[in-house]
Amino acid sequence: MSKETTQPGTPISLTFEQLKELLASAQKQPNIVEQKAIEAEIQREKNKALAVRELGKVEEERLRHKRSSCTHYRFPMTAGERGGHMAPRERGESMLSGQLHSQKLATAICCRCSMTWTFRPTEQEYEYFSTQGMKGIDIPDPSRVIASSVAGV
Ligand SMILES: [Zn+2]
Repeated sequence: MSKETTQPGTPISLTFEQLKELLASAQKQPNIVEQKAIEAEIQREKNKALAVRELGKVEEERLRHKRSSCTHYRFPMTAGERGGHMAPRERGESMLSGQLHSQKLATAICCRCSMTWTFRPTEQEYEYFSTQGMKGIDIPDPSRVIASSVAGV
């Protein structure tokens, strides 16, 4: 290559084929720096995916523990420091809420662990739910539960 062509701003001429070839080879072989950056990016993405998966496992475990340990009752706010914390069923207030779908169907959900119970309300329950709502209701009797499940399972 002559000296003139390396001067900045010196126009060069290429045939269309040469240009095409040049572009193709440039695309095919990213230089070392680019290659390293790409590999680092891929590794970062892999690590991120791994971290997300680990986090998912931890979250799943945490949820499982929460569900299996949830009594669905909490100490009332009047209990002072323990207020709002999980309580044994006989000493706490219900953390359930829910929705009345019809005279024959209602769903209760625990606000702490997200467990749900789909059940048949009694006549009295229906009257109560439709006027007072379902906040703080008791866990429905198993004999009237059609299905129970936990969100995400
Ligand atoms: Zn619960």
